[in-house]
Amino acid sequence: MADTKIYFLDGGTLLLDGFHIWWNQGPGGGVRIPSYSVLIEHDEGRFLIDTGFDYDHTMKYLAFEQPTQTPEQTIPGALKLLGLEPKDVGVVFNTHFHFDHCGGNKYFPHAKKICHKDEIPQACNPEVFEHLGYSDLSFSVEAAEARGRADELTHGQTAANTTFETIEGDVELAKGVHLFFTPGHTVGNYAVMIERAKDRPMMLVLDTAYTKRSLDTLCQASFHLDPAQGVRSMMRIRDLAEKHDAELFFSHDIEAFKGYKTGPDFYS
Ligand SMILES: [Zn+2]
Repeated sequence: MADTKIYFLDGGTLLLDGFHIWWNQGPGGGVRIPSYSVLIEHDEGRFLIDTGFDYDHTMKYLAFEQPTQTPEQTIPGALKLLGLEPKDVGVVFNTHFHFDHCGGNKYFPHAKKICHKDEIPQACNPEVFEHLGYSDLSFSVEAAEARGRADELTHGQTAANTTFETIEGDVELAKGVHLFFTPGHTVGNYAVMIERAKDRPMMLVLDTAYTKRSLDTLCQASFHLDPAQGVRSMMRIRDLAEKHDAELFFSHDIEAFKGYKTGPDFYS
Protein backbone atom coordinates (compact mmCIF):
# COMPACT_ATOMS: atom_id res chain seq x y z
CA MET A 1 0.00 0.00 0.00
CA ALA A 2 1.42 3.35 -1.04
CA ASP A 3 1.25 6.29 1.34
CA THR A 4 -1.40 8.89 0.57
CA LYS A 5 0.13 12.05 -0.91
CA ILE A 6 -1.56 15.43 -0.64
CA TYR A 7 -0.77 18.29 -3.04
CA PHE A 8 -1.99 21.87 -2.70
CA LEU A 9 -2.71 23.34 -6.14
CA ASP A 10 -2.09 27.08 -5.88
CA GLY A 11 -4.91 28.81 -7.77
CA GLY A 12 -3.96 32.47 -7.43
CA THR A 13 -5.36 35.21 -5.23
CA LEU A 14 -8.46 37.37 -4.73
CA LEU A 15 -8.92 40.66 -2.89
CA LEU A 16 -11.55 40.99 -0.16
CA ASP A 17 -12.33 43.68 2.36
CA GLY A 18 -11.35 42.76 5.92
CA PHE A 19 -14.96 43.17 7.05
CA HIS A 20 -15.98 40.43 4.62
CA ILE A 21 -13.24 38.05 5.80
CA TRP A 22 -13.94 38.75 9.50
CA TRP A 23 -17.65 39.59 9.62
CA ASN A 24 -18.51 42.46 11.99
CA GLN A 25 -14.90 42.55 13.25
CA GLY A 26 -12.64 43.67 10.42
CA PRO A 27 -10.56 45.82 10.36
CA GLY A 28 -11.65 47.02 6.93
CA GLY A 29 -9.38 47.51 3.96
CA GLY A 30 -8.23 45.26 1.15
CA VAL A 31 -6.74 41.88 2.08
CA ARG A 32 -5.35 39.55 -0.55
CA ILE A 33 -6.38 35.94 0.04
CA PRO A 34 -5.16 32.70 -1.54
CA SER A 35 -7.36 30.25 -3.41
CA TYR A 36 -6.28 26.63 -3.81
CA SER A 37 -7.48 23.12 -4.56
CA VAL A 38 -6.22 19.89 -3.02
CA LEU A 39 -5.19 16.78 -4.95
CA ILE A 40 -5.13 13.50 -3.00
CA GLU A 41 -3.12 10.65 -4.48
CA HIS A 42 -4.61 7.62 -2.81
CA ASP A 43 -4.58 3.85 -3.29
CA GLU A 44 -8.19 4.17 -4.40
CA GLY A 45 -7.41 6.80 -7.06
CA ARG A 46 -6.79 10.51 -7.54
CA PHE A 47 -9.28 12.75 -5.76
CA LEU A 48 -9.53 16.51 -6.30
CA ILE A 49 -11.06 18.65 -3.56
CA ASP A 50 -12.50 21.80 -5.19
CA THR A 51 -11.28 23.37 -8.44
CA GLY A 52 -10.49 27.03 -7.70
CA PHE A 53 -11.73 30.11 -9.56
CA ASP A 54 -11.81 30.87 -13.26
CA TYR A 55 -9.98 34.12 -14.05
CA ASP A 56 -12.20 35.21 -16.96
CA HIS A 57 -15.39 34.49 -15.03
CA THR A 58 -14.11 36.44 -12.03
CA MET A 59 -13.15 39.42 -14.19
CA LYS A 60 -16.61 39.39 -15.78
CA TYR A 61 -18.71 39.11 -12.60
CA LEU A 62 -16.44 39.97 -9.64
CA ALA A 63 -13.73 42.22 -11.07
CA PHE A 64 -13.71 44.12 -7.75
CA GLU A 65 -11.98 41.08 -6.25
CA GLN A 66 -9.02 41.86 -8.53
CA PRO A 67 -8.04 38.25 -9.26
CA THR A 68 -4.45 37.28 -9.96
CA GLN A 69 -3.74 33.94 -11.66
CA THR A 70 -0.72 32.90 -13.69
CA PRO A 71 -0.95 30.08 -16.27
CA GLU A 72 0.60 27.74 -13.63
CA GLN A 73 -2.24 28.66 -11.25
CA THR A 74 -5.04 27.47 -13.54
CA ILE A 75 -6.19 23.92 -12.84
CA PRO A 76 -4.55 22.47 -15.99
CA GLY A 77 -1.39 24.52 -15.26
CA ALA A 78 -1.19 23.44 -11.62
CA LEU A 79 -1.68 19.78 -12.54
CA LYS A 80 1.01 20.09 -15.22
CA LEU A 81 3.51 21.07 -12.49
CA LEU A 82 2.91 17.54 -11.13
CA GLY A 83 3.19 15.93 -14.57
CA LEU A 84 -0.57 15.37 -14.64
CA GLU A 85 -3.52 16.34 -16.81
CA PRO A 86 -7.18 16.73 -15.83
CA LYS A 87 -7.95 13.31 -17.33
CA ASP A 88 -5.70 11.73 -14.66
CA VAL A 89 -8.14 12.78 -11.91
CA GLY A 90 -10.85 10.22 -11.22
CA VAL A 91 -13.05 11.97 -8.68
CA VAL A 92 -13.86 15.65 -8.09
CA PHE A 93 -15.45 16.55 -4.75
CA ASN A 94 -16.79 20.10 -4.36
CA THR A 95 -17.04 21.30 -0.74
CA HIS A 96 -19.62 23.85 -2.02
CA PHE A 97 -20.30 25.74 -5.24
CA HIS A 98 -19.06 29.26 -4.56
CA PHE A 99 -17.21 30.50 -7.66
CA ASP A 100 -13.75 30.09 -6.10
CA HIS A 101 -14.34 26.38 -5.47
CA CYS A 102 -15.86 25.16 -8.77
CA GLY A 103 -14.31 27.30 -11.53
CA GLY A 104 -12.20 24.44 -12.88
CA ASN A 105 -14.90 21.73 -12.82
CA LYS A 106 -15.34 22.19 -16.57
CA TYR A 107 -11.96 20.48 -17.15
CA PHE A 108 -13.26 17.20 -15.69
CA PRO A 109 -16.14 15.95 -17.89
CA HIS A 110 -14.87 12.38 -17.47
CA ALA A 111 -14.55 12.41 -13.67
CA LYS A 112 -17.01 11.18 -11.09
CA LYS A 113 -18.33 14.29 -9.34
CA ILE A 114 -19.63 14.44 -5.79
CA CYS A 115 -21.33 17.16 -3.71
CA HIS A 116 -23.91 17.57 -0.94
CA LYS A 117 -27.48 16.91 -2.04
CA ASP A 118 -28.64 20.48 -1.37
CA GLU A 119 -25.82 22.41 -3.09
CA ILE A 120 -27.06 22.20 -6.69
CA PRO A 121 -30.66 23.15 -5.80
CA GLN A 122 -29.20 26.13 -3.90
CA ALA A 123 -27.01 27.16 -6.87
CA CYS A 124 -30.13 26.93 -9.08
CA ASN A 125 -32.16 29.11 -6.74
CA PRO A 126 -29.88 30.96 -4.29
CA GLU A 127 -30.96 33.45 -1.67
CA VAL A 128 -30.77 37.01 -3.04
CA PHE A 129 -27.55 37.67 -1.11
CA GLU A 130 -25.93 34.49 -2.45
CA HIS A 131 -26.06 35.32 -6.16
CA LEU A 132 -22.47 36.49 -6.44
CA GLY A 133 -21.14 33.57 -4.41
CA TYR A 134 -22.91 31.13 -6.69
CA SER A 135 -21.93 33.09 -9.81
CA ASP A 136 -19.90 30.53 -11.78
CA LEU A 137 -22.43 28.01 -13.07
CA SER A 138 -20.12 26.30 -15.57
CA PHE A 139 -19.97 23.23 -13.28
CA SER A 140 -23.59 22.26 -13.97
CA VAL A 141 -25.90 22.35 -16.97
CA GLU A 142 -28.81 22.12 -14.56
CA ALA A 143 -27.72 25.19 -12.57
CA ALA A 144 -26.75 27.24 -15.65
CA GLU A 145 -30.12 26.56 -17.28
CA ALA A 146 -32.02 27.32 -14.07
CA ARG A 147 -30.32 30.74 -13.88
CA GLY A 148 -30.69 31.52 -17.61
CA ARG A 149 -26.92 31.31 -18.19
CA ALA A 150 -26.63 28.28 -20.50
CA ASP A 151 -24.68 30.47 -22.99
CA GLU A 152 -21.72 30.31 -20.56
CA LEU A 153 -21.35 26.53 -20.99
CA THR A 154 -18.50 26.78 -23.49
CA HIS A 155 -16.54 23.61 -22.66
CA GLY A 156 -18.85 20.95 -24.07
CA GLN A 157 -20.76 20.50 -20.83
CA THR A 158 -23.76 18.20 -21.06
CA ALA A 159 -26.32 17.13 -18.51
CA ALA A 160 -24.58 13.74 -18.42
CA ASN A 161 -21.02 15.00 -17.89
CA THR A 162 -22.07 17.50 -15.20
CA THR A 163 -24.12 15.04 -13.18
CA PHE A 164 -23.19 14.72 -9.50
CA GLU A 165 -23.43 11.86 -7.10
CA THR A 166 -24.90 13.48 -3.99
CA ILE A 167 -24.17 12.82 -0.34
CA GLU A 168 -25.43 14.02 3.03
CA GLY A 169 -23.94 14.05 6.51
CA ASP A 170 -20.42 12.80 7.19
CA VAL A 171 -18.95 10.48 4.57
CA GLU A 172 -15.64 8.62 4.15
CA LEU A 173 -14.70 9.51 0.57
CA ALA A 174 -11.88 6.96 0.50
CA LYS A 175 -10.13 5.08 3.28
CA GLY A 176 -8.91 7.73 5.74
CA VAL A 177 -10.40 10.66 3.78
CA HIS A 178 -13.25 12.02 5.89
CA LEU A 179 -15.82 14.55 4.74
CA PHE A 180 -17.31 16.44 7.68
CA PHE A 181 -20.64 18.16 7.03
CA THR A 182 -20.22 21.74 8.26
CA PRO A 183 -23.16 23.83 6.98
CA GLY A 184 -23.63 27.55 7.57
CA HIS A 185 -21.21 29.08 5.07
CA THR A 186 -23.44 27.36 2.52
CA VAL A 187 -26.27 24.85 2.82
CA GLY A 188 -24.09 21.85 1.98
CA ASN A 189 -20.60 22.96 3.03
CA TYR A 190 -17.90 20.43 4.00
CA ALA A 191 -14.53 20.29 5.71
CA VAL A 192 -12.13 17.41 4.92
CA MET A 193 -9.79 15.43 7.18
CA ILE A 194 -7.11 13.23 5.64
CA GLU A 195 -5.21 10.59 7.61
CA ARG A 196 -1.49 10.45 6.89
CA ALA A 197 0.95 7.58 7.25
CA LYS A 198 3.84 9.67 8.55
CA ASP A 199 2.15 12.55 10.30
CA ARG A 200 -0.90 13.75 12.23
CA PRO A 201 -4.17 13.86 10.31
CA MET A 202 -4.59 16.94 8.14
CA MET A 203 -7.76 18.96 8.74
CA LEU A 204 -8.70 21.05 5.73
CA VAL A 205 -11.04 23.52 7.37
CA LEU A 206 -11.86 24.99 3.95
CA ASP A 207 -14.55 27.66 4.04
CA THR A 208 -15.91 26.58 7.41
CA ALA A 209 -13.37 29.16 8.72
CA TYR A 210 -11.40 31.26 6.23
CA THR A 211 -8.41 31.93 8.51
CA LYS A 212 -6.78 30.76 11.73
CA ARG A 213 -8.05 33.87 13.46
CA SER A 214 -11.57 33.07 12.19
CA LEU A 215 -11.53 29.68 13.89
CA ASP A 216 -9.78 30.93 17.04
CA THR A 217 -12.41 33.66 17.54
CA LEU A 218 -15.39 31.86 15.93
CA CYS A 219 -15.65 34.72 13.44
CA GLN A 220 -16.94 33.60 10.10
CA ALA A 221 -16.84 35.37 6.78
CA SER A 222 -19.73 37.60 5.78
CA PHE A 223 -20.51 35.20 2.92
CA HIS A 224 -22.82 32.83 4.74
CA LEU A 225 -26.27 31.34 4.48
CA ASP A 226 -26.80 30.82 8.23
CA PRO A 227 -24.32 32.48 10.61
CA ALA A 228 -25.54 30.66 13.74
CA GLN A 229 -25.15 27.30 12.04
CA GLY A 230 -21.75 28.44 10.73
CA VAL A 231 -20.49 29.11 14.25
CA ARG A 232 -21.71 25.69 15.41
CA SER A 233 -19.84 24.12 12.48
CA MET A 234 -16.65 25.94 13.49
CA MET A 235 -17.03 24.63 17.04
CA ARG A 236 -17.50 21.14 15.62
CA ILE A 237 -14.27 21.44 13.61
CA ARG A 238 -12.38 22.58 16.70
CA ASP A 239 -13.70 19.55 18.61
CA LEU A 240 -12.87 17.13 15.80
CA ALA A 241 -9.37 18.58 15.36
CA GLU A 242 -8.72 18.17 19.08
CA LYS A 243 -10.16 14.65 19.19
CA HIS A 244 -8.02 13.49 16.25
CA ASP A 245 -4.99 15.66 17.10
CA ALA A 246 -5.25 17.03 13.57
CA GLU A 247 -3.10 19.73 11.99
CA LEU A 248 -5.28 22.61 10.78
CA PHE A 249 -5.07 24.11 7.28
CA PHE A 250 -7.10 27.17 6.29
CA SER A 251 -8.61 28.02 2.90
CA HIS A 252 -8.17 31.79 2.63
CA ASP A 253 -5.41 32.69 5.11
CA ILE A 254 -2.54 34.37 3.24
CA GLU A 255 -0.14 34.26 6.20
CA ALA A 256 -0.75 30.55 6.79
CA PHE A 257 -0.64 29.82 3.07
CA LYS A 258 2.90 31.22 2.79
CA GLY A 259 4.03 28.26 4.92
CA TYR A 260 2.10 25.60 2.98
CA LYS A 261 3.74 23.22 0.51
CA THR A 262 2.55 23.82 -3.07
CA GLY A 263 3.40 22.60 -6.55
CA PRO A 264 5.27 19.29 -6.67
CA ASP A 265 6.02 19.51 -2.92
CA PHE A 266 3.54 17.30 -1.05
CA TYR A 267 2.29 16.20 2.38
CA SER A 268 2.23 12.54 3.36
ZN1 LIG B 1 -13.84 30.17 -0.73
